[in-house]
Amino acid sequence: MNIEQIIQEAQNAGFTLVAPLDIKTITMMPEVRKMCEVNKCDAYGSNWACPPACGTLEEGSDLISQYKSGIIVQTTGQLEDDFDSEGMMETAKKHDENIRRFIEEFRKKYDTKMLPLGAGGCRICKKCTYPNEPCRFPDSMIYPMEGLGILVSDVCIKNNVPYNHGRGTLTYVGCCLFA
Ligand code: SF4
Repeated sequence: MNIEQIIQEAQNAGFTLVAPLDIKTITMMPEVRKMCEVNKCDAYGSNWACPPACGTLEEGSDLISQYKSGIIVQTTGQLEDDFDSEGMMETAKKHDENIRRFIEEFRKKYDTKMLPLGAGGCRICKKCTYPNEPCRFPDSMIYPMEGLGILVSDVCIKNNVPYNHGRGTLTYVGCCLFA
């Protein structure tokens, strides 16, 4: 698998920025996991991909250790002002669509195991089955980076990728790890 080719394919999927990710720069921090408990995104305790259902920090670390390389993917949108909730939702939707498009294309072309990490709870289903029924698509669920204890800005900085693209913009960040 050629990482340059994968980057091109992720760009084709619609991301505004794609860059190689050095897997060794991923650090899982208990304090990031702790922030999930504030439940700003409404996914804590209501999604199989989020804490507490996604497992302990150690289990997350074991999961990440199965992968050898990766890419950082970003979707940046323009906002009319700091309160442009419509623009924020539209950018989040685009990021979700980009990541799903990339996963679909990747899985059509490669046998390599891939772990997509996104922003916020997994939104593959309209309503997550948690906690009453098992996850409908355990092989496709998208774990949030923060839910695994990964500080998004830290990963961007360590891989020389801008995290903030300036006033009037909003950036959603994810990554895809390859075995
Ligand atoms: S795939 Fe569906 S059931 Fe599974 S974590 Fe995602 S939203 Fe929940």
